[in-house]
Amino acid sequence: MFRPLDGQLDHTILESQMLDTWEREGTFAQLREKNKGGPRFSFIDGPVTANKNLGVHTAWGRSLKDVYQRYKAMRGYHQRYQNGFDCQGLWIEVGVERELGLNSKREIEEYGLAEFAERCRATVMKSAHQLIEGSVRLGMWMDWENSYYTSSDVNIEYIWRFLAVTRERGWLYKGFRATEWCPRCGTSISAHELVGSYIDKEDPSLWVRFPLLDRPGESIVVWTTTPWTLPANVAAAVNPAARYGLRDGGWVAVDRAGAAFDRAGAGLEFDAVVTGAEMAGWRYRGPFDDLEPGAGVVHRVITWDEVSLDEGTGIVHIAPGCGTEDFGQSKVHDLPVLVPVDEAGAFYPEYGWLAGQTTTAAAGPVVESLRERGLLARAATIRHRYPECWRCHTPLIFRVTDDWFISVAEVREPMRAANREVEWVPEYMGKRMDDWLVNMSDWNISRRRYYGMPLPFYPCACGHLNVIGSRRELAERSGSSLQGLRELRRPWIDEVRIGCEKCGAPVERVPEVGDVWLDAGIVPFSTLGWQNPAAVPHGFGAGAAAGLTGADLPDHEYWQDWYPADWISEMREQIRLWFYSMLFMSVTLTGVSPYRKVLGYERMLDIRGREMHGSYGNMIQAEDAFDQMGADVMRWIYCAQPPSQDLLFGFEPGHEVKRKLLTLWNSVSFFIQYAILTDFVPSGEAAWPGSQDLDRWIAARTGQFAAEATQGYEQYLTANVLRAFEAYLDDLSNWYIRRSRPRFWNGDTDALQTLWSCLTTSLRLVAPILPFITDYLWRALAGPARSVFLAGWPDLGPADMALVADMAKVRRIVSLGHQGRVTSRMKVRQPLRRMVVQGADGVAPYLDMIADELRVESVTIGAVDAEEITVRPNLRVLGPRLGPAITTIRSMLQAGEFTELPGGRFRVGDLELEPAEVLVDRHGKEGWYVASSDGVAIALDLTLDDELRLQARVYDTIHRVNGLRKQAGLDISDRITLSLPRADADLLRHREWIMAETLAVTLTVSDDDELRLARADV
Ligand SMILES: [Zn+2]
Ligand SMILES: [Zn+2]
Repeated sequence: MFRPLDGQLDHTILESQMLDTWEREGTFAQLREKNKGGPRFSFIDGPVTANKNLGVHTAWGRSLKDVYQRYKAMRGYHQRYQNGFDCQGLWIEVGVERELGLNSKREIEEYGLAEFAERCRATVMKSAHQLIEGSVRLGMWMDWENSYYTSSDVNIEYIWRFLAVTRERGWLYKGFRATEWCPRCGTSISAHELVGSYIDKEDPSLWVRFPLLDRPGESIVVWTTTPWTLPANVAAAVNPAARYGLRDGGWVAVDRAGAAFDRAGAGLEFDAVVTGAEMAGWRYRGPFDDLEPGAGVVHRVITWDEVSLDEGTGIVHIAPGCGTEDFGQSKVHDLPVLVPVDEAGAFYPEYGWLAGQTTTAAAGPVVESLRERGLLARAATIRHRYPECWRCHTPLIFRVTDDWFISVAEVREPMRAANREVEWVPEYMGKRMDDWLVNMSDWNISRRRYYGMPLPFYPCACGHLNVIGSRRELAERSGSSLQGLRELRRPWIDEVRIGCEKCGAPVERVPEVGDVWLDAGIVPFSTLGWQNPAAVPHGFGAGAAAGLTGADLPDHEYWQDWYPADWISEMREQIRLWFYSMLFMSVTLTGVSPYRKVLGYERMLDIRGREMHGSYGNMIQAEDAFDQMGADVMRWIYCAQPPSQDLLFGFEPGHEVKRKLLTLWNSVSFFIQYAILTDFVPSGEAAWPGSQDLDRWIAARTGQFAAEATQGYEQYLTANVLRAFEAYLDDLSNWYIRRSRPRFWNGDTDALQTLWSCLTTSLRLVAPILPFITDYLWRALAGPARSVFLAGWPDLGPADMALVADMAKVRRIVSLGHQGRVTSRMKVRQPLRRMVVQGADGVAPYLDMIADELRVESVTIGAVDAEEITVRPNLRVLGPRLGPAITTIRSMLQAGEFTELPGGRFRVGDLELEPAEVLVDRHGKEGWYVASSDGVAIALDLTLDDELRLQARVYDTIHRVNGLRKQAGLDISDRITLSLPRADADLLRHREWIMAETLAVTLTVSDDDELRLARADV
């Protein structure tokens, strides 16, 4: 029933064969069919942005998702397997802009929004196709044809419904506030997009004089690193509690004077000193009062407790249109807000000679103008952390703008409470989420872009804000059937006007689209049919998703079955992104978390610990990794990674993994070889005959591994599964198989049945992680027709742990013995006379096994006293205590006249010495090797005699003969005739032994120096 494994293990070939087999057999469909009536396991896939092909980063998460879905499937769970694509937003737009060579919003509008939307959709289609292809190659089983696309009209409508709810609760508002702004993308950046987007950047560091209007000849000196903000200056802030001094006509904080005047601060003299509080209200001439906006402002000194005395001059330039905190001060002090630059970061026309210049371009002319007018006290540069756009890497500016926000005030505590119910792996990520929730600011949901979910807001001149909650409502309110509306998307939707709910006037939609995290956050509702009265077959594929997916729009009952998700998994940064937006929307709509358990994982870096970047040349495409190491090896690397640490990914660790998989391959190959030789037929189920100690032990050991693996999966820690597997594989191949070789040779069916059971059981246990090689080997062992994934999960019951512990001790003793040979340069084929073992209860039945393994004639249990100890006085300590008596003590110690006491103390004569008073050396007695580990000690007698030397030569000869047999291409069962070289005639004393080990039918001694063999005709 068995066929030998094909040649060598080649992962790429094997994996492509398995992909064909799965495709041909419909294995995945069979598995889903099998589990249909089983308990539900609800997993929701976080949508992957469809703007790229599969990278090794994405492959990590995809592997983990696949592992747990496969594990649950093997345990009989019914699952949805819905894959998701993120299809809207700046990521997609920026890619298309690059493709088309467009570099501003103006150029996109000139190109045409309808055509631009087409291009975005085409990018999504192409990328979705590539991502599916890569994921299939990775071994991921998903219901690809029914993936969800966030650009679907269904998804958009569900977000509208959510927004309508926030409106009803009074959480939705339009805010005029300073936000980080990308001038290239022409849109604001919200707080959750900003984390981690800081770079080191060099900027000007300027000390600028603002001449005081009521104190002739005096100026205040402010500090700034953003020259472009000076034309928008309206005030200067001082710390009310700090002291400020006048020197050379300039006011600065006394504590900052040294830096401001470029001298050592100590000993500086001032013409006058006042407190910040006393400066409040001083009026000054603005730095750009020659320009229209500044000219209309009364510039004055304000007080602000937060003004830092750690940098600058201790006087802060305030431009409320260019900074969050500045904007905050404008509320406190009722200051005018000058917004100097437009969406593209260019100065508005009223800024005269600066008009049209960008913030970066304006820096030079601004500084020059200050210098010409004598207002520049000092100019230098500074390196500091500065935020950049996470999509296009343009440095961000601050800009005051009117954006749409959802207030978090009322939802914050319910979200925290919901998060406390979530089980996070690793645990600290739950705390990270709580930190994020504690600090989260109102959700800025609007983006001034094109290819996104259109915000359904229709503000009316009468003051009423109309919010549309569904397509049907839009049709009713617009008085049109919307038949011609091809997508709920710009530019088409912008043409639909509705009547104001309050006054009936026709109103238009705001031009903004939504934050992409709304798109992904609504998924637990939109894909599961929340509040949908009746299922619509293939109904999810609406709008831009039409033709891309056959996914159904389920009904509310279905949603109740599958919500909340039992488990989700993404990388740690999703705490402030997808995990957050889902939690926000779910708590708003249902009051509970949309997920029960989360597996988060840290970042992926390159093998040296650097971030992977296209520009560093260290990016690895999944395709290259598939070619070079294969999907199983990649999945092993991903799954061996503790999720709380960054994964350093590279090709090198793949070699080590391949070596381990080769051990598995060789073990199966070994079994098959002997099973064929002896016509062995295994019992259909794993059976454990247990005729010998080793059989019973490996059965127990397999049970232990099954328990460890199952626990690892249940805790969502695949690293534990693989650690247990490695240890098991070592026990199986390096102990069970190796120790049982003669039994296989003799066709011992108990040994064969035991090994078959071990292999088929352990393959099932690691199949979720290593789907290709396990299914391949499983079919080689259990029949080619049926996949390991249809075999169910092994249940071995409780294992005999005492037996497992005893054999672990045996292996530890053997390992100490081997270590002794290495240390003493005693070759493995040299037999030794005896070994003493101490501290190993339970190993008594296995002494023969240990002796055989270590090639030691006898192993006994006893006290390992084959130890010599030398004790010398520690003169530095003992000298002062004993004085001249030390000489006597030293010679007594030298002569061995001492007794060892517990706790490392010694008695010499009447004297007791403390551990610190002596220096102790322990070593084996001459000719013995002594070692201990974990409470087990051995003493190995290294003395050789003539007989032992002769036996070593016998072993050498057997080894050489078996090498020659292989070279000659003999089959393992072929009998031979053997003749020894003349010099080895004395080995004939062990004739029977040599003949048995080499399958020789005759053994002679030749009259020359050659070792010869030939196949015997029997
Ligand atoms: Zn940008
Ligand atoms: Zn109105």
